[in-house]
Order: sequence, then C-alpha cells, then structure tokens
Amino acid sequence: DSTSEDASFTKPKTTFQDVAGLDEVKEELVEVVDFIKNPDKYRKMGAKVPKGILFYGPPGTGKTLLAASVAGESNSAFFNTTGSEFVEKYVGVGAKRVRTLFEKARKEAPSIIFIDEIDAIGAKRHLESNNEKDQTLNQLLVEMDGFNKDSNVIIIGATNRLDLLDEALTRPGRFDRHIYIGNPNYSTRYEILKVHTKDKPLSSEVDLEEIARKTHGLSGAHLANIANESAIIAVREGCSQINKVHFDKAIERIVAGLESKNSKLI
Ligand code: ATP
Repeated sequence: DSTSEDASFTKPKTTFQDVAGLDEVKEELVEVVDFIKNPDKYRKMGAKVPKGILFYGPPGTGKTLLAASVAGESNSAFFNTTGSEFVEKYVGVGAKRVRTLFEKARKEAPSIIFIDEIDAIGAKRHLESNNEKDQTLNQLLVEMDGFNKDSNVIIIGATNRLDLLDEALTRPGRFDRHIYIGNPNYSTRYEILKVHTKDKPLSSEVDLEEIARKTHGLSGAHLANIANESAIIAVREGCSQINKVHFDKAIERIVAGLESKNSKLI
C-alpha cells in the first residue's frame, strides 16, 4: 500500500548565506524564522502567524533553496514534496497522502512543508467538484484550516503560475503571503556565481563580473550549471584550474541548449 509509506523529512544545514542576492525576500523570511523560533512573542501580542507562504516566479530561481534555508535557519524538519506526488489515479489516495504528511509534520514540529509545483493540486477547481485532484486540494485546505495556533508548522508552496491557483488556496488564513522570485539581475548573478565557484580553483583571468554581464536572462539554476559544467570541462582538458575558455564553452553549451529548447517550441 503506497499510501502507508512514511512522509520523510530532513534537517537541512542550508542557511540564508547559501542563497545569493534576494535580500528583500530574505528579510521577509527572517521574520518567518522568528515566528517559528519565538511563537510566544507573537501569541502574547494577539498576532496570528502566517501558515502558508507562496513563492512564485520562473523556474530555477532558488525557491526550493530558500524554503530549505528557512528550515535550516529555524532548525525545523523539512518536508520536501512536489504537487504531482499527490496526484493519483485512485480517488482518495492523494488526500490520504496529504493527511499523513501533515500528521507527521505536526509530530516533528517545528516543521516546514514545502510543496513545489503546487499548481498540480491547487489549480482552479471544476464545477463537478468530485475528482481525485479536487479531493486532494480539499484535504490540503482542511489541514490548513485545522492547524491550531500552537502547531508550529509552516507550509511553503511554489509555482511558476500564481494565476492558475484556486482562490480558496490564496485567500487570507491560507497561502496569504505571496513572494515573487524572479530571474536574477546583474548583481545577483554575480553573487550566485561567487557562491557556486567558492570551492573551485579559478584561474586569475576568470572575471566573474564579465560572466555575470554575459548571462542576462539566465536563472540561478543555469548559473550553478555553468559553474559546474566549466569545472567538468577543465577536468576533461586535464587542467589544474578553471580557465576563461572553460567558462566560455560552458556558457555556450547552456545557451545553445536553451535555444534548441525554444526553437522546438516554435
Ligand atoms: P523550480 O521552480 O524549477 O523548482 P526553484 O526556483 O525551486 O526551481 P531551486 O531548485 O531552488 O529553484 O534552484 C536550483 C539551483 O539553482 C539551486 O540548487 C542552486 O544551486 C541554484 N540557485 C538558484 N538561485 C540561487 C541563488 N539565489 N543563490 C544560490 N544558488 C542559487
């Protein structure tokens, strides 16, 4: 029975330092970390702490990384899930999985439940509201409403398309904080490149500012990929350091990959 399998979690060591740039987003999340660490402070003031936060924006921009860093900073159990895991052929299976997940998260609290691609279960419902997806979404809403003040579980959902989500999910008391995470600007690209080359031997001719300028429009995931790919190319060429030419080849490869993907779409 696949529904009886335990919801698994980790205790990530990720911190806000691992996330380059995105200072405003991190500032907002510092407050969330404080909710988790000092719930009494807010309770005494009569404040309700948020239960649900939505990250939205293009893929590969650090949404998962940020969610893990909230867990790391607050020493919470991190339940890393994807919306599609809950979508099943048989009615009731997804809903049961949601229930099991929340039970476990409450038991391990403080907890962060991360649901990537939440649109897979949270897209606008149909009129004949009785299919498997709707039951799963309904169960998620029930769990969020059923949180008592003391449960100390925060849910972070991520989506590329906020407009697809059912209003029942985004209204106050549920996922009521919406945080946009876009593609990095020049200075964030530079910071991301620094993070991802920190432990790599770079030759002195490698100019990360120049690479940041050349990579306009790429995501953090692409930049991480470029840093890794350039290291692999350097090894392949038998070098003891990563040179400018290795970066150039890596960028070329990743940009060419994107272009062929785009041309397939046309
Ligand atoms: P998706 O929407 O595709 O799930 P995502 O927004 O959740 O993507 P992540 O999985 O967090 O993106 O990012 C992918 C990888 O890109 C990260 O593991 C990290 O290596 C790198 N990355 C992205 N943004 C940043 C950043 N701001 N700082 C450092 N690394 C980053």
